[in-house]
Amino acid sequence: MSFNELNLHASILKAISACGYLTPTAIQAEAIPPAIAGRDLIASAQTGTGKTAAFIIPGLERLTSPGQPGNGPRILVLTPTRELAAQVADSVARYGRFIRMRFGSIVGGMPYPDQVRLLRQPVDLIVATPGRLIDHLERGRIDLSRVEMLVLDEADRMLDMGFTDAVDQIAAATPKKRQTLMFTATMDDQMAGLAGRLLREPSRISISSSKENHESIEQRIHISDNLLHKHKMLHHLLEDPAITQAIIFSATKRDADTLARDLYDRGFSAAALHGDMTQGARTRTLSNLRRGKVRFLVATDVAARGLDINGISHVINFDLPRAAEDYIHRIGRTGRAGANGIAISFVSPADAVYLQRIQRYTGKNVPIHTIPGLEPVSSLAVAGRGGNNTGKRRRPLTEAVPRHYRSVSGSTKSTASKSKSGHQQRGYSQR
Ligand code: AMP
Repeated sequence: MSFNELNLHASILKAISACGYLTPTAIQAEAIPPAIAGRDLIASAQTGTGKTAAFIIPGLERLTSPGQPGNGPRILVLTPTRELAAQVADSVARYGRFIRMRFGSIVGGMPYPDQVRLLRQPVDLIVATPGRLIDHLERGRIDLSRVEMLVLDEADRMLDMGFTDAVDQIAAATPKKRQTLMFTATMDDQMAGLAGRLLREPSRISISSSKENHESIEQRIHISDNLLHKHKMLHHLLEDPAITQAIIFSATKRDADTLARDLYDRGFSAAALHGDMTQGARTRTLSNLRRGKVRFLVATDVAARGLDINGISHVINFDLPRAAEDYIHRIGRTGRAGANGIAISFVSPADAVYLQRIQRYTGKNVPIHTIPGLEPVSSLAVAGRGGNNTGKRRRPLTEAVPRHYRSVSGSTKSTASKSKSGHQQRGYSQR
């Protein structure tokens, strides 16, 4: 199928062609026709499948015809995180560059005055995170009575983050006859409930399993005996010049800070990304990552979800996520735009249960790799049978780093040697 067959407005086709896209991706081919026909849609597709264009293009198509008079947005896109909102807004700018329209973002962590100014004038499309939008809604600053299309992007994550009531409240402020498009990676009872409340006779679209989406990613496991062992393996791996850029996932925000600081102290160009940072700091870090000034990003799940950065050659799970879906989202940060990627997970005996969950979900056994000289003494099979590893909260990194190790990590010797090998590029951005 070609984009021409989708009967899109000439200005949209021109923008798509300017992006260099030759054919619609599977989700675009399946979602765009019913969405343009005005149908509600529930689509399970993950980031990396081209899902953003699958809802932005039908939204823009609507904007090529005049709407009702008024100031409020005609298209409203809700995303769980500010980063995803920024990416969606970026896509709106790219796909809508030849259309006369006004759009903007309403996200938390950004100054109010700009948003108030944006909302005072007529606006066609808004990308928003639920919390801040509710804030404006309750203060009577935004009128949602003109909304023709409501899009819930990563709806499952919005529910995970506790936005169920906010999403319901926002939807209730929009006209009943609106069109609703819902994108989710998972479908459970809570999601089905939300879909039941907000969608009318939706078309259901499910795009290739996660497994197929990640064929360009080689997955590996390294068994780790303890935290010190994880650190040693990480330092060894990061010496590999084949790692152009990596996202290293940690279990908590505090761990992300500690690990980024440790890597920085060792001379690596590393920075943290998590939800406790100000929006300004998050944006700066991401921009440094995109420009190659940061080589190793240490992130938490929420902050890194949906990040679309082509240069990420490796994802390293310093801690294994508990939910298999999070694993899929994490490894999907590499192997983008046709490139190959490598996803490495450190799995301690206590994590064996999470690994089992992931392997069941993906239907794939991930091969175990070892580093000569850093072979584990533990084995996962033993840990799996042990049965005492479920449901325990992992200790934060800072609590668990052995004292002698912490003092070693503060050494400046390795910083100097790393500089020589060219790994030290820029400063730690989260001081
Ligand atoms: P998304 O899943 O929306 O995050 O998109 C993932 C990546 O695919 C983004 O970098 C898009 O620019 C790119 N993309 C989206 N649609 C197409 C297409 N039809 N052809 C090639 N690349 C695309």
